[in-house]
Amino acid sequence: MSVSQVAPQPKKQRPPPKPVAVASIERVTPGVLRIAFVGAGLDAFAQARPGAHMKLFFTAGEWPPAGIENPPRPPSRTYTPRRYDAAASRLEVEFVMHGAGLASDWAAQAKVGDPMLISASPGGGYQAPEGISHLVIIADDSALPAAGMVIESLPSGVGVTAICEVENAAEERPLSPRVNCAPRWLHRETGNARPGSLLETAVAGMATLPADAHVWVACEAAAMRHIRDNLAARFNLPRARLHTRGYWKFGDQNYPDHDYGED
Ligand SMILES: Cc1cc2nc3c(=O)[nH]c(=O)nc-3n(C[C@H](O)[C@H](O)[C@H](O)COP(=O)(O)OP(=O)(O)OC[C@H]3O[C@@H](n4cnc5c(N)ncnc54)[C@H](O)[C@@H]3O)c2cc1C
Repeated sequence: MSVSQVAPQPKKQRPPPKPVAVASIERVTPGVLRIAFVGAGLDAFAQARPGAHMKLFFTAGEWPPAGIENPPRPPSRTYTPRRYDAAASRLEVEFVMHGAGLASDWAAQAKVGDPMLISASPGGGYQAPEGISHLVIIADDSALPAAGMVIESLPSGVGVTAICEVENAAEERPLSPRVNCAPRWLHRETGNARPGSLLETAVAGMATLPADAHVWVACEAAAMRHIRDNLAARFNLPRARLHTRGYWKFGDQNYPDHDYGED
């Protein structure tokens, strides 16, 4: 069979979303809710790599709807499985209440017992390479859960520099309850800054990087690209030492950023 005659591959069937329910809701800061999920949908939940992500699916009624074969999956958003306790079969997710949005609105109105659908196999994430001596973390509010997972995964003795952008001082929160890390906090309310612009300015103002530092960046997509270009140009950082992800895009709903900066 020639190349042009290659038989079409059957479309890979994604596993259906799994049902869970809200077990508890905790206000972490005025703008962040920590929501814990329990339920049968966690039976097959795979332990996540540090900073991994999963999908949450939002549906008004029963899913799958009765009588429909292969129903389309409900609208979804991407979140960090911040803490999964396999023994208790309990999963915590931290939601930034950024304003109007399917997920943000859902979280703002969530009650104990509310149903949710999740993907049970978290993907992506960042495993710090062996021998790493210093990690620079640059994150906005949406990426603080992932940043917390990443620093908790680092071998002891690895230095951490963290620069984090949030709305205001009330939104500052420990990246981890276990690992001591004192981020430099940037507040958007000062001059109503565009999301990510304070991170851009802070990175542009960095005169040096710690020797052999690796850098982990996760924030608004345009700011991430600006920061990545700046770091690559000024410090000649090899790609292997620069891990960058756009977590959302200003003005776009459910923005999927697949630009990982890999050639
Ligand atoms: C790998 C990964 C992990 C993530 N983990 C988390 C997490 O743990 N917690 C978390 O809160 N978010 C996380 N996010 C970000 C989250 O997926 C987006 O913020 C998502 O768009 C929220 O959906 P929504 O329905 O609330 O808003 P959407 O319907 O997607 O967007 C509506 C409007 O809100 C704006 N918007 C979206 N997100 C934000 C924001 N954070 N701040 C300001 N404006 C925003 C959009 O630009 C748009 O104009 C993660 C994203 C990725 C890619």
